[in-house]
Order: sequence, then structure tokens, then C-alpha cells
Amino acid sequence: MAKNKCKYLFVTGGVLSGVGKGITAASMGAILKAKGYHVTMQKCDPYLNVDAGLLNPVEHGECYVTHDGVETDLDLGHYERFLDFETSKYSITLSGGIYKELIEKERAGGFHGKTVQLVPHFTNLVMEKIEKASAGSDVHIVEIGGTVGDYEGLPFIEAIRLFANKVGRRNCLYLSVVYVPFINTSKELKTKPAQNALKDLRGFGIIPDIVCVRTEKPCPRAICEKIAAFSGISGDAVVNLPDINSVYDVPLNIMKSGVLEILNDFMHDEKKPDMSRWVEFSKHRNTEYDKTVKVGLVAKYVGNDDTYICVTEALKAAAAWNEVNLDLRWINAEEVADEKLAEMDGLVVPGGFGIRGMEGKIKAATYALENDKPYLGLCLGLQMACVAAARRGGLKNAGSEEFLQSEDYKKPKDFKNVIYIMPGQEGKESTGGTMRLGDYDAKLKRGTLTQKIYGKEKVVERHRHRYEVNQKFLPEIAKGGVVVSGTSPDGKLVEFVEAPDCKFFVATQAHPEFKSHPLNVHPLFYNFIKSLK
Ligand code: GLN
Repeated sequence: MAKNKCKYLFVTGGVLSGVGKGITAASMGAILKAKGYHVTMQKCDPYLNVDAGLLNPVEHGECYVTHDGVETDLDLGHYERFLDFETSKYSITLSGGIYKELIEKERAGGFHGKTVQLVPHFTNLVMEKIEKASAGSDVHIVEIGGTVGDYEGLPFIEAIRLFANKVGRRNCLYLSVVYVPFINTSKELKTKPAQNALKDLRGFGIIPDIVCVRTEKPCPRAICEKIAAFSGISGDAVVNLPDINSVYDVPLNIMKSGVLEILNDFMHDEKKPDMSRWVEFSKHRNTEYDKTVKVGLVAKYVGNDDTYICVTEALKAAAAWNEVNLDLRWINAEEVADEKLAEMDGLVVPGGFGIRGMEGKIKAATYALENDKPYLGLCLGLQMACVAAARRGGLKNAGSEEFLQSEDYKKPKDFKNVIYIMPGQEGKESTGGTMRLGDYDAKLKRGTLTQKIYGKEKVVERHRHRYEVNQKFLPEIAKGGVVVSGTSPDGKLVEFVEAPDCKFFVATQAHPEFKSHPLNVHPLFYNFIKSLK
């Protein structure tokens, strides 16, 4: 039996993916945290990608970056938002990464000529990763991506089954999220797919301790009882989690479902979770306020809400705590027009890559500077603000070296690389994991709006960029209305800018949205929304 006292909660999904397995896992984490435990989380995803850095944001949603600089998928963002904590490189395990490590070890002779196999080598390495990720915590939650029964996910399922042998079954809690569809023609809820999914899971040696039944509308208790009876699980352990307005109500909903008793048994305590902040947040979010603020998000990918999920979640939470309604409008960066910008109370220009839409973002920043329209620039949003200011300051052909990557771009004769490639990053434009990633310190200039917003001079934010401000052009940028309000501690990199003549014009080279949590909103987002009131 293992010596560490950590307990493990494994979350799997059946029937289909995309029915809230990640939110359920994160909500369980929020409840356990509210019971006073130190909780960590980990996602095991069966993709053959080594990390998420090169995944297309339209297909996969936003690329999330951990404090220690790993590019992951957006589930880790949910975990951080629900637990108000920081994940790390140990919080994501992709098949591609496991295979890579195994093959590299094999190539280096590390297996001494032995046959390398999915079981035990892949499964052992997964178990090692789970143990490492759980170091120092009371409860470690592991979500297995995909659906039980997928070929590619099987080694992970086997690993979490074996894990119980390692640490003791009583230290493991298995939770399965299944979907029960409503068939409109017969007006019936159908449990068969859920029964089959649980049968599959049983076939792999796992009988879940909790089954969460996802339905569109609340389902009769008999449905849960039926699933329980057919799956050999106690009726109390099968709970219904119907769709609700906001994912942030899921922890409160789970609290009402009877899961708490199972958690109490598992943890051997009766501690009541302190959910008061969740209740408060829910109240704020569900209130219709007199005042509505209209925020224009000037973005390239307007088809998929998930692409900028951290930004939109940060704005929504900031509005709730500011007690205003948020009217979030997408502005296609390729179709920016002054009339559209004028309708907005404030503008946000989020991060982005590639030339498409860049001119639109420059236009948005120019409009904000000229019309004192509140502006929040995030990463590319800072770069485009500096280009806009440099052009206003007289450099008509100011641009970013990122433009030059595009074959369609006709470089003007006197092109001024106001945004240039960071030394050491040349030639790495399409490779994975080569950007300036993760936490970096910045020092803020005393007396600037940026510094007042943070309330301190030394800040740490997460980054994901390859280009930066070319400080040679700071005089022109300043002439155009934008000044530096924060730099890297050595002064070499511009980290924050602002426009002293505007009410609220702040931009950062970082991605503060990664660190904004609903119960702990990032001050830049909070103050941006506040400036619109
Ligand atoms: N494309 C820009 C860069 O690489 C901005 C990146 C971003 O917005 N995350 O520096």
C-alpha cells in the first residue's frame, strides 16, 4: 500500500463526449476545495499530439497556457476557474507525450532490449504521471478525455484501474458521466446507451462509485434507479445533473444531488463545504441589472465561442461583480468599421496569430485612441495598439514583422518593424513549444493607471508570444499617445502600455485572462468593465 495519504477521484465519460465531464470534474474539485482540502487536477487525453500548442483553435478552442509554460487545451482553464488555483505541466498528460517519452527511452537503450508494450509500459508511465501530479495534495482528480470504449483511450482506463491496486481501492473514487437522450418522437428518455456505456466500463474492470446522468431537462428518479439496477450500482450513487443556464451553477447543483454524502464517506468526514462565495457569485450572475455595458471583442475567429473562452469568462465575471449586464458583441477583425466601433462602450482586442485581421485590430486601437473609447489589449492587442500609436506618431508604414510571414503581404519600402521578432525566436514560426511561454515578472511604473489597477509594482502574468515591441520606436509610439507602463525587470521587454489621455486604454503583452477566475476576477478585467459604468 502506498504511503502517501492522497485520495484519487477518476472521472470518465460514457455515451458521447462534450456533455460536461470536465465541468463535473472541476465542480467536484470546487466542492472538495470548499471542504478545506488541497485539491489538484489532471487531464489525460488520448490524442497523439505531444502538446496542444499546434492544435487549431477553431477546432479545439483556445490554447491554454499553464504558469510553467505548457500549452494545453481549455479544460485546464475550467479547472483553474472552478478551483481558483494554478494547474501545472503535471496537469496534462497526452498520449503523444507518453509515447514520445517511451520511444525516446527505448531509442536510448533505456529498456535494455526488453519488448516495450502498452501494458505495462504505457500504463506504468501514466500511473507515474498521476502520482507526480498528485504530490502534496489531499485529493487528486483525474479526468480521462474522450468516451469509454474509444480505442485510443483504453490504455488510460487500464491505468486508472491498475492505480487502485497501487494505492488501495478505498483511496479511489470512480465517477462516470453518462448521457441520457430524450427521443422526441416517442417522448421518452432512453437509458440504453448509458447502460451500455457502464457495461463497457465494467468490462474494463471499473464499477463506478458515482454515476452522473446528464439530461437536457430534470429526469424522473426512476430513470436513475433503472440505470442503477441495470448496472449493479446503488441507487443513491446515480444522480441526475440536468442542463442549467450556467456552468458555474453546477457545483451548487451537485451539492443538492446527494453526491455530498458519497464524498463524505470517501473522505471520512462530515465537513460541510463552504459554498458561500459560489452562492454570492450565482446571485450576482443571475441578477438582471439596470445598467448594460456593450463590449466589442475584435477577433479573428468569430465562429466558435470556445476560441476566446478565458477572455469571455473573465469579462462575464467582471460584469457580474460590477453589477452590470454584459452585452458581448463579436466584431470580425476583417470587417472593422468605425460605425460598429462607435456603438460599443468598450473594445477588447485579444491575442492572435497571422496577418489576417491585423489591420482591423489596428483600426480598433486607432479608433479607441482617437475617440477615448475604453480599450483592453491582450498580447496581440498590445502589439496592434503600439502599431496604431506609431502610425499616429508619424510612422505611416509601421507594422509587425509577423506581417512579413504572409506571402500576401507587400512590404512597403520604408516598413518600420515597430513589433519585431524576439532575439532567439527567428525562423521558429511554425514549430511547437518555441514561444515565450508561461509566467514572467514585470515591473510597473509607479503612478501609471496600470500600476494603480494592480495596486502593486511587481506582477507576474502568463505569456504566449514570439514578437515584442521594438523599443527603438518608443518616441513615435509616445507621440501617437501610448506610453510604456510596465517592462520586464531588466527593462528589455515592454510588458504593459497605456494611453494617458484616455480614460481607460491599457494593454499587456501577457494573457491576464488565463489568471482570471470567477471568484477572483483579474483586476484588469474588473477595472475595464468598471470604466464602462
Ligand atoms: N502573434 C503575436 C506574437 O506571436 C501575438 C501572440 C498572441 O497574441 N498570443 O507575438
